[in-house]
Amino acid sequence: MSTAIEPCDPVEFARLKRRLERERAARLEVEAISEKGLRELYMREQELRLLQDIATSANLSQSVGDVFQFALTRICDFMAWPIGHVFLVEEHDGSVHLRSMALWHTQDPQKIAPFRAMTEARDLAPGEGLPGKVYLTGSAAWVADVVADATFPRKNAADESGIQAACAFPILVGQQTVAVVEFYTDHIVERDEAFMQLVPQVATHLGRAIERQRAEDRLIHDASHDPLTGLPNRALFLDRLNQSIAHMGRNAGSQFAVLFIDLDRFKIVNDSLGHLAGDNLIIQVSDRLKGALRHGEAAVGLTIDMPSSSTLARLGGDEFTILLTDIDDPSDAVRVAKRVEEALNLPFAIDGQEVYTSASIGIASSASGYETADAILRDADLAMYRAKALGKARCELFDQKMHQEAMKRLALETDLRRALQNDEFVLHYQPIVALNTNEIVGFEALVRWQKPDGELVFPGDFIEIMEETGLIVFLGRWVLEEACRTAQALQGQFPRDEPLSISVNVSPRQFAQPDLITQIRAVIAETGIDPRCLRLEITESVTIGDHERVAAVLTELKELGIRLSIDDFGTGYSSLSYLHSLPLDVLKIDRSFIAAMNQSPESFQIVQTIMSLARNLGMDVIAEGAEVLGQVEQLQSMGCGFGQGYYFSKPIDLVGLRSLLMRSILPTDGQDGSQTGHERQHGLLDGLATLKAG
Ligand code: C2E
Ligand code: MG
Ligand code: MG
Repeated sequence: MSTAIEPCDPVEFARLKRRLERERAARLEVEAISEKGLRELYMREQELRLLQDIATSANLSQSVGDVFQFALTRICDFMAWPIGHVFLVEEHDGSVHLRSMALWHTQDPQKIAPFRAMTEARDLAPGEGLPGKVYLTGSAAWVADVVADATFPRKNAADESGIQAACAFPILVGQQTVAVVEFYTDHIVERDEAFMQLVPQVATHLGRAIERQRAEDRLIHDASHDPLTGLPNRALFLDRLNQSIAHMGRNAGSQFAVLFIDLDRFKIVNDSLGHLAGDNLIIQVSDRLKGALRHGEAAVGLTIDMPSSSTLARLGGDEFTILLTDIDDPSDAVRVAKRVEEALNLPFAIDGQEVYTSASIGIASSASGYETADAILRDADLAMYRAKALGKARCELFDQKMHQEAMKRLALETDLRRALQNDEFVLHYQPIVALNTNEIVGFEALVRWQKPDGELVFPGDFIEIMEETGLIVFLGRWVLEEACRTAQALQGQFPRDEPLSISVNVSPRQFAQPDLITQIRAVIAETGIDPRCLRLEITESVTIGDHERVAAVLTELKELGIRLSIDDFGTGYSSLSYLHSLPLDVLKIDRSFIAAMNQSPESFQIVQTIMSLARNLGMDVIAEGAEVLGQVEQLQSMGCGFGQGYYFSKPIDLVGLRSLLMRSILPTDGQDGSQTGHERQHGLLDGLATLKAG
């Protein structure tokens, strides 16, 4: 049986056809939708991968350059564009410009050569060209065809390199645009919204890389610079110095020099006006030093023998150094030193006050053939010390003799350490006499170094070095103990209504010991001495330190019953009124005034003035260094209470002191050899005549 196909009703046919078409359209639409979805999914995945890759590179790369190189390549791949490039934002003397980082991604370097050359040849101002606009607006920009854009300054070069479409976006750190990245391709392309939406996230990752680099740079800078002045610090200076030494090794004939600059009187400013004022002075000095060196560079064209480059550093405190490289002769360094001196000539304004300072400068030059930075710095330092010793405010060139002196000093330091260990120090005692009765009222303990070979060394030859090395702290403690023990024994042997006093010198370093009071208490307890018989002698330099601490320590000593003397008065910087604010009992007029007293009316006047001021302040006065009868008589006529000097007795050892006290007359064999036989004889005879039997 067969089924006949009946011809379709035309109406029905049309209906079916329409339905079929609708279904096909619907199917196509579904297919299109899912294809679009897939494509979007694909695009989305590509974008995520791009962001991820750039983030990873930003986190792991060693340098910002690496991060940007990777990002340029990766973004060019993503956009299928052939060219990418980075501008950095730079700031100089307050004006901003965009400079090519010379970082490119390109597939055909030959082809873009004209465009690249022009881009790298000239910086762009804010607002200028595509990157300039991006910098100004802080947002991304797109140009479909740069060749047709009249505001694109590199238009001709772009045309020559076959460049048409461009886009650029800013890299921000915080609110600040720090770089601009630009991309180019060789045909016209309309703005790609999807990409432009991705840009801020890319920029964030790249911004982080720059931020991290900056933080690292800052750390490195901080580690190598002085925070107060921003100058290179010791570490960086030594590094540059080492480079100079290495450079000289390779290029015979290239010379360099080191200037070691130490301010004179800085400590006084610091101590009297406070640390803030001191810091302020240091900053101003560093500015003047910078100025002095700039002046030198400016003069290069005029005077051929000016150094061509220099490094100024602050080593710490009031110490600055200058490294001068490429000099012709050490005299160039002396010339710079003169300019430094001139630069410091005018007063500094500190807290509304005019403060004067000068510098002592030591110079060491590569002409002496140095192999290490430490060695040349050490010698420049030594030369500076010499400049100080020769009267400050001057410059000295290091020489071999200085080196030998330094070596001798080093040997002395070693000897002194040994001497301390081997108990090679002894005390001599010099009587202090009441000028109205000529009676011995006490004595000053003066230390000597008795070398194993019998030689007696005087404090002038070793106290300073012991002070500098800190050995004085140990010596001082021994002196105090020994002197108190002696005084205690002598008081037993020679009882008086007013017991004999013992004066002991306390050095600045000793005074600065935090446990000074504890030490002194211990010595008093151990030796059993009556603290009222103990006098501590301090110099003015001790009192200029931290005023509050000085006053507190002195007050505590007074509370123990100890009497306090100011030694060598008149040689320091302090004023009597300042000293009056401290609980001092005795003022010892320095012997230089006594020596000059009968030589000029002015000196006589000075002594008289000091004496009447001291009297008004209720202080006792001891005249140091009375050597002849005339001086003693003059002092007596002025009403000076006490005297100490060769006229009465030189410092003598304990045996001598005992026999002196026993007879209350002077011994016939002075122990110190510094006086001539004639002088000694004269002084002794006079002393014999004037000292009363006790
Ligand atoms: P000073 O404390 O001012 O001691 C007085 C110095 O003047 C002593 O010198 C003494 O010998 C000397 N002298 C005394 N009368 C005369 C005189 O009529 N003519 C001359 N030309 N000189 C006289 P000396 O013993 O050489 O001590 C020098 C300095 O060394 C002392 O000056 C003191 O500052 C320091 N010194 C001595 N012993 C010690 C000590 O145990 N500790 C500390 N820290 N310093 C000490
Ligand atoms: Mg003294
Ligand atoms: Mg003295």
